[in-house]
Amino acid sequence: GLSTEKLMEKMEQQLPEDVYRLLKEIGETASELETPVFLIGGIVRDILLDRPNEDIDIVAEGDGIRLARGLKDAYGGEVVEHESFGTATWLTTSGLSIDVVSSRLEYYEKPAALPEVETSVLGDDLQRRDFTINAMAIRLNEEAFGELIDPFGGQLDLVNKNIRILHNISFIEDPTRIFRAIRFEERFGFRMDEQTEKFALESIDKVVHVSPQRINEEMKRLFKEGKPEKVLRRLFQLQVFQQFGIQEAQMEAACTSATTLVKLYWEQAQTESAIDEEQPSAFEYFLLPFYGDDKLFASAKFALTKKDLNLLEEITELQTETNWSEATQPGDIHLRLHTYSDEAILFVLAAEQIPGHDSVIAYLHLRRSLSKLLTGADLMTAGMKPGPHFSAILLNMEACQLNGDITSKDDALQWLSNYEENRIREVTADEIDTR
Ligand code: ATP
Repeated sequence: GLSTEKLMEKMEQQLPEDVYRLLKEIGETASELETPVFLIGGIVRDILLDRPNEDIDIVAEGDGIRLARGLKDAYGGEVVEHESFGTATWLTTSGLSIDVVSSRLEYYEKPAALPEVETSVLGDDLQRRDFTINAMAIRLNEEAFGELIDPFGGQLDLVNKNIRILHNISFIEDPTRIFRAIRFEERFGFRMDEQTEKFALESIDKVVHVSPQRINEEMKRLFKEGKPEKVLRRLFQLQVFQQFGIQEAQMEAACTSATTLVKLYWEQAQTESAIDEEQPSAFEYFLLPFYGDDKLFASAKFALTKKDLNLLEEITELQTETNWSEATQPGDIHLRLHTYSDEAILFVLAAEQIPGHDSVIAYLHLRRSLSKLLTGADLMTAGMKPGPHFSAILLNMEACQLNGDITSKDDALQWLSNYEENRIREVTADEIDTR
């Protein structure tokens, strides 16, 4: 185990100076109030892992609200009290927000099924947590600042890279912990220990009781964390997907398109600073093959948002459009694809063999840097009557811009006057025809 001095050193090296000072101050004030106080949860894990984390969660063994008030009196700032929860948020003068929880027994209903591991009130709090690596605390009181409280062997699990639940029914109690376990596996390169994985598999049928919103959120968080292909395979391995009727072939198809999609995004990010360097994280990209024809059902099952559904709609449309990639000139491609988002186009490029792949990629680059040379106001200044044809004119102008035929506002105005002339000529010809 890590000695108190070593841990204190680690905290001092690793936490931002103001955060470290603040933790010291909290400890001093709490000692004056004779209240044991602890840093708890994710930040403790991350201090031990040398990873940045500034989510400061504080547990006071006693009255947390009183401690928060004491901190305000001593160091200024504001206190927001949540009386019924026994919690308070101290907003420091330096702009930090510190949640202080009271760890008094009367605030908790002790779950009957849990084994008695620790009898202290802090132990009771730790016992409710998901994994051993998240169930540690660091004492902040002046006289014992830096003492690690680790009743479940979290420190050893950090060394051994284990994700381990605290008790056998943990996943049954809260099946979202299965998603959380995978998330921590991906983030840290850890693995569930044998027992934990066995319990996950045994309680996997419970995931269907998790609300669709929650599943949607958890999935999105998962895909932000790890390589999509790895996440997809792990979800399949743990039989999460099977609970939703997703077969292996569908999972494989999703893996293939996910891998290509990530590559496409990566290439784009290399050549362009404009594009978000994050890999695409929307899980619906990868799950698309799963939806089949029953999108309504799928959208209910995964609580797809309006944005998700719009994307899905775009992708479906693009996939049924047969000749969208035949054009090679960026301007011509624009006439067909201008309404579609980058995300939708990239998805279809990743999921299917498209003959005009490279032209479309080149087009997307150009489109992102397209400047607006004319607006509707310019058209009116040029004497044109506003109407739906305005957007057609502007679209055609953009196409010429993308082909390199228009490069300045002067070019655009010149083009516009020719366009008008041609149009008037056409109209006259029509009139002659109908006579
Ligand atoms: P992140 O960096 O993703 O925020 P975190 O560990 O801080 O990681 P949170 O989701 O913010 O994760 O949760 C904060 C703490 O609350 C966790 O460290 C964990 O101890 C506890 N926790 C969160 N969700 C659960 C859960 N479903 N069951 C038990 N404990 C949980």
